Amino acid sequence: MSTSTETRNVIIIGSGPSGYTAAVYAARAALNPLVFEGSVTAGGALMNTTEVENFPGFRDGIMGPALMDEMRAQAERFGAELIADDVVEVDLTGDVKVVRTATDTYTARSVVLATGSGYRKLGLPREDELSGRGVSWCATCDGFFFREQAIAVIGGGDSAVEEATFLTRFASKVYLVHRRGELRASKIMQERAFADPKLEMVWNAEVAEINGTDKLESITLRDTVTGEERGLDVTGLFIAIGHDPRSELLTGQVDLDDEGYVLVDHPSTRTNLPGVFAAGDLVDHHYRQAITAAGTGCQAALDAERFIAALD
Ligand code: FAD
Repeated sequence: MSTSTETRNVIIIGSGPSGYTAAVYAARAALNPLVFEGSVTAGGALMNTTEVENFPGFRDGIMGPALMDEMRAQAERFGAELIADDVVEVDLTGDVKVVRTATDTYTARSVVLATGSGYRKLGLPREDELSGRGVSWCATCDGFFFREQAIAVIGGGDSAVEEATFLTRFASKVYLVHRRGELRASKIMQERAFADPKLEMVWNAEVAEINGTDKLESITLRDTVTGEERGLDVTGLFIAIGHDPRSELLTGQVDLDDEGYVLVDHPSTRTNLPGVFAAGDLVDHHYRQAITAAGTGCQAALDAERFIAALD
């Protein structure tokens, strides 16, 4: 165990678009930020995808990992210090913020929380391997790739129904697969979905297998009542069963909403604790895009910069 003697201006926890963007801004403001990137998933959610076509500035699109490499290199170019380790404990309540990894303790005058959120998975073999190759968690991001193809959407809440309805713009057919015999989504969304000629409900069914070698070729559905299995030929599988903010570290520290997302004082990124700011999908369960995460990462760095300037 070692303790760094220097109290930093800013520590940024997280290395997705929000964390790296906060790092670029904080570094260019001469705040000498320290970024904890995480030990396994440095680079964030886009490390698990292939083509990103909606991040401005790349007219031909860019691979997710390449985009994150660019953001990382840009932060480093301006002097951000990056540590590929997990933060395991924080004490953010005092004037000096304390951030711990398994081996070391660091302190800072301000902290930007940017740990993102995780999409819930089905937990099936092939799910991760075929992510970005037919398996997706984001209709806004990937719907465009499935023009005139058959798609299955899994889930029964508002998001699943909204994604399924949105995907009918592109797909030849959308199967909305739900493990129960009725949807949880609001009445108005259900009515819109049922009226859509391209959308077909598959009731009382769950995904038993995801099939395909290099890309998704089909799924196997299991009837939740009879247990019978059948194949469904789809080239797209959109999993819409929810997402969880990575806020375990923060329980008892900053205010969280009922689902665990960090509450901020909109339109700023201020949390309830002075000097603690939050950005990206850790806060936002509505837009959840790389560009919106980057945007709030920028805001958090600017908020931290102003907070530190006021202390000096
Ligand atoms: P994340 O990208 O989730 O990054 C947070 C990172 O912080 C973690 O991954 C980890 O590295 C780090 N971290 C977490 N906890 C700790 C800790 N305790 N200590 C240290 N580090 C920690 N959006 C688009 O705009 N276009 C797309 O095409 C697109 N495609 C997508 C495809 C997939 C498969 C997925 C999953 C998402 C996609 N998205 C897309 C959504 C986009 O990736 C997210 O909205 C965005 O990455 C959120 O950024 P973030 O910085 O908030 O968090």
